[in-house]
Amino acid sequence: MRVASRLPIANSMLAALPPKQYQRMLGGLESVALIFGDVLYEPGQRIRHVYFPNDSLISLLTVVEGHLALEVGMVGREGMIGVPLSLGTDVSPVRALVQGAGAAMRMTSARFCNELQKSPKLQQEVNRYTGVLMAQITQTAACNRFHVVEARLARWLLMTRDRVGSHEFRLTHEFLGHMLGVRRVGVTKAAHALQEEKLITYSRGKIRILDSKGLEASACSCYKLVKDMHDGARA
Ligand SMILES: [Zn+2]
Repeated sequence: MRVASRLPIANSMLAALPPKQYQRMLGGLESVALIFGDVLYEPGQRIRHVYFPNDSLISLLTVVEGHLALEVGMVGREGMIGVPLSLGTDVSPVRALVQGAGAAMRMTSARFCNELQKSPKLQQEVNRYTGVLMAQITQTAACNRFHVVEARLARWLLMTRDRVGSHEFRLTHEFLGHMLGVRRVGVTKAAHALQEEKLITYSRGKIRILDSKGLEASACSCYKLVKDMHDGARA
């Protein structure tokens, strides 16, 4: 299903394109519904499509020894997945996993590379986004090593909220454990602590943020650092 061009453009990168360029891009974009748990890329495999999330959320995971996965980045409406294409490689270094169901626009890799050549503005957007994504991945590496689970969980919830544009989202402790690289019991303990402080509520796989300011105070410094970088690059 194609999305009518008069609808507001939900993805920030597509929204930043001049109308004429966006119209041309639209010919190669298709609207897809992403489902929780879908795997869009596997490490070492070819990238067949790029995705521009609307209200969906995608986790980038590094996979170790085939079965251990750790989140190194998170992509929502502010970005895209498939940036290696603009750097001259069509192989994904990460697993891209849908962790927030919703809509996205996708385009074949061949068409995307073609559009990149034709559009300096698209190239500029992709370069800018690649820069902030690299910063996010770098910060996440340090975060996973140095910050305690509770502060990382708070960061993760805020980053998710910013990207899906909602204070409530679906999650399981098992899934969160994979995201944060800790055992399920560690996640349960951290979620319980945030709930005790009345910052979130958690029931039946749904998390709701009750107190954004309080959660920001509980999050590690990585949250604000990465957010400022995104905002600064956009400005
Ligand atoms: Zn951190």
